[in-house]
Amino acid sequence: MRLASFGDDRIGVIVDDQIFDVTPVLGSAASGLSPMRRLIQRFDELAPALSDLSPYAAQPLAEVSLRTPVSDPSKIVAAPVNYRDHMVEMSQQAHIGALGVFLKAPSSVLDPGGTIQLPYDDRRFDHEGELAFVIGRPARDVAPADALDYVFAYTALLDITMRGGEDRSTRKSFDTFTPIGPWLVTSDEFGDPRAADLRCLVNDQVRQQENTAQLIWGVAELLAYASSVMTLLPGDVLTTGTPAGVGPIVAGDRVDVEISRIGRLSVAVAADRAVHSPTSGANTGPVPPPPPELADTGAGRKSP
Ligand code: MN
Repeated sequence: MRLASFGDDRIGVIVDDQIFDVTPVLGSAASGLSPMRRLIQRFDELAPALSDLSPYAAQPLAEVSLRTPVSDPSKIVAAPVNYRDHMVEMSQQAHIGALGVFLKAPSSVLDPGGTIQLPYDDRRFDHEGELAFVIGRPARDVAPADALDYVFAYTALLDITMRGGEDRSTRKSFDTFTPIGPWLVTSDEFGDPRAADLRCLVNDQVRQQENTAQLIWGVAELLAYASSVMTLLPGDVLTTGTPAGVGPIVAGDRVDVEISRIGRLSVAVAADRAVHSPTSGANTGPVPPPPPELADTGAGRKSP
């Protein structure tokens, strides 16, 4: 099943090019949670009411404004250095097996079709296209063999990143730095998370292309480990990390992430209120690969 958040606090089921507004299934009880979190929390109870969509109003998918699937995750848990080719391009000696996980601010989420706002005019910002997943039920100390039972759905995510020596939680948590979507594909429909093709494009140029078979920690291992650190709640977003090919984005760019069996997440880039960075980490921290136009000529290998 494909589930989307759209319009003004609506949730829908997508079938072909139509979206059925299933928000009424939630009833009127106010809980302070987004409709999608309420649906996920009660999914086992509510799913039978979604097996026949004829009672719900349908409209063309192209005519609605899609929102980020879960607007209010209690946390966004992210994987650092979880593909070997990305470890090599970043000149890193350690991967997720040594680093563990990090957190991105939940307030950094961005709707599909939205605009990333780069905060500074004197720093490099990179795209990181990633496969993400959403937790379906509370998870604490889950074994890897059981972990996929806790995954509600999969989606595409951009882990937008400022390069430099500041803490990851700072560099990746600016508002708009976590585009997610365009919708959720439930785990039964998505199937094996170790067999998804991922591409990230900037202005229609392919920058990243990889299969999730190459993940160092797959979805099960990542979920199991994260649940040994913190209780994962329904609606929490975990993102699996990015493969090689990261590169800079600038105002005016369009960034797309495509994942097989999900679809395409597309966002724009702007720097409307950019100022000079107040922190001085620009020339420290992990060294990213040169921009593609420099890499093609072999120049620019020494510094970001
Ligand atoms: Mn990342």
